[in-house]
Amino acid sequence: MTQAANQIQMGAEQGAQPLFENGKWVWERHYPEGVNWKTPIAKKPLFHIIDQAADKYPHNTAIEFAGRSWNYAELGRMVNRVAAGLQDLGVTKGTKVGLFLPNTPYSIMFFFGILKAGGTVVNYNPLYVERELQGQIEDSETDIMVTLDQQPLLDKMETMLKVTRLKKLIVCPASGVQPFVTQILGMITGKGRSRIAADERHVLFDDVVDNDGAPAHVTIDPLDDVAVLQYTGGTTGIPKGAMLTHANLYANMMQIVTWVKDLRFGQDSIVGILPLFHVFAMTVVMNCSIYAGLKILLFSKFDAKEVMEAIEKHRPTLFPAVPAVFNAIANSPEVGNYDFSSLRFCITGGAPMAADVQRLFEERTGSASLAEGYGLTEAAPGCTFNPPIGRKKAGSVGQPVPGTIVEILSRDEPHRVLGVGEKGEVCISGPQVMKGYYRRPEATAEQIKNGRLHTGDVGYLDEHGYLHLVDRIKDLILVRGYNVYPRIVEEAIYLHPAVEECIVAGVPDQERGENVWAWVKPAAGKSVSPDALKEFLIDKLSPIEVPRKIIVREKPLPKTAVGKLSRKDLLAEEGIVRK
Ligand code: AMP
Repeated sequence: MTQAANQIQMGAEQGAQPLFENGKWVWERHYPEGVNWKTPIAKKPLFHIIDQAADKYPHNTAIEFAGRSWNYAELGRMVNRVAAGLQDLGVTKGTKVGLFLPNTPYSIMFFFGILKAGGTVVNYNPLYVERELQGQIEDSETDIMVTLDQQPLLDKMETMLKVTRLKKLIVCPASGVQPFVTQILGMITGKGRSRIAADERHVLFDDVVDNDGAPAHVTIDPLDDVAVLQYTGGTTGIPKGAMLTHANLYANMMQIVTWVKDLRFGQDSIVGILPLFHVFAMTVVMNCSIYAGLKILLFSKFDAKEVMEAIEKHRPTLFPAVPAVFNAIANSPEVGNYDFSSLRFCITGGAPMAADVQRLFEERTGSASLAEGYGLTEAAPGCTFNPPIGRKKAGSVGQPVPGTIVEILSRDEPHRVLGVGEKGEVCISGPQVMKGYYRRPEATAEQIKNGRLHTGDVGYLDEHGYLHLVDRIKDLILVRGYNVYPRIVEEAIYLHPAVEECIVAGVPDQERGENVWAWVKPAAGKSVSPDALKEFLIDKLSPIEVPRKIIVREKPLPKTAVGKLSRKDLLAEEGIVRK
């Protein structure tokens, strides 16, 4: 019996069924037919999947984007040329290369090119403001950044070249991945493109890939070498780089592909509207699809109508997205005008899925089964899923994927492992759990104890081994599936000289999941209006972080017994119940 299993037997409340009994975990006894929880999980360098797909499915479309497509042979060749070009620029084992890109084929070419060159990918959110970018570049030690020749992106990176350690900027032409007609229009109007300085710190994409496509071989230790530094606020809100090794990412891809047993290799196609810089899309949309030789229908932004039109036209079979996307489609007045019959199943995660939205989406699209899963950056990310085809439980985030142990630990007695039906902190063990936070041993030790990743989420496992989430210990607001940390927003608000007290919290919203609200008390003799405060925050926070509503009040904000501002009491005072 494992140490974990032993503790469970000793820990579960008298009467509560232990999670591990007679040599089996509770979910193992109710696992979907044909899926083995004990399937061996391979640990390989992640870029093997690109070479393998180029060999196995050379003529299958890999990416369809804005009316153009690339097959796996072409994608494989581009990855090799990017890798060789990056090595020419000095990328060696462990060099940090940032991706500051909306979804385009460049995102995939560079992701694998960096890995093949031996480097580590650092994903950047293109909506980040300068302060956030600066913090992440310095913390991650990013030396080279890849971006597009589009004004807002390039402007921010020009500033970063001046104020951070960044040494080089690789600039990719948007026109290089657009259809011919758009390119011609762009050349005539000059719209969107920016002038790029001709110096050694600016490198053009064409120069990067001007080589024989034969990168030098780099030996990778999948268990130790970090493939991706993925930034997250974790449970505290302070941005940290989760070190995801090659083995972590390879494992999670294999776990999900094994779980989705009905996947049709080389035949299925997937909607790619989730941003690839987020861990959900990185694994589910990109890595799983490439491994299985699927066509990725890639979008650089979400527009419900455009996606519905594309689904009817291109007939993709799989659709992963955050709940807000399915909500937008289910509630679109035009949903009935489109044909969704190609969709075999949809997967959601990243934020809670309301049961009625799930039902509404399935009813209104007429065919697609929508299954919810759960994960987090630190687990690369997938931990539990409802079976896409088979026994789904509404309100549950499903069973642990192969090789993953979910345990529930008591919140009052930190080492006590709970039994079936008992609520506590969700803890994860498995090959997908990160190596740690980059250069933060204390934060890592806080998060991973006795080999278990403490998620900061509260839930319970039912008698079939399905996980139900009921609360969050961590201060995290999920707006359309994006993480917003109250602490970051509060810090920005406190920069305003008139603010004395401030509390930021998530308020439930039918369409967006949650909205960011802020309560502010001005200092004596000072005043500030909600609009003035919003204006003040625009260059300090990402658009998604700027509070939707700011309430300015004269009355002091509620405090705990020790005098700390109390978010819990404020929400109770305002009658706001968080799910
Ligand atoms: P991230 O690291 O950005 O992927 O955020 C992970 C967090 O999102 C988790 O720890 C949960 O708090 C939340 N989350 C992810 N999936 C779900 C889900 N299906 N339902 C509720 N919350 C979720």
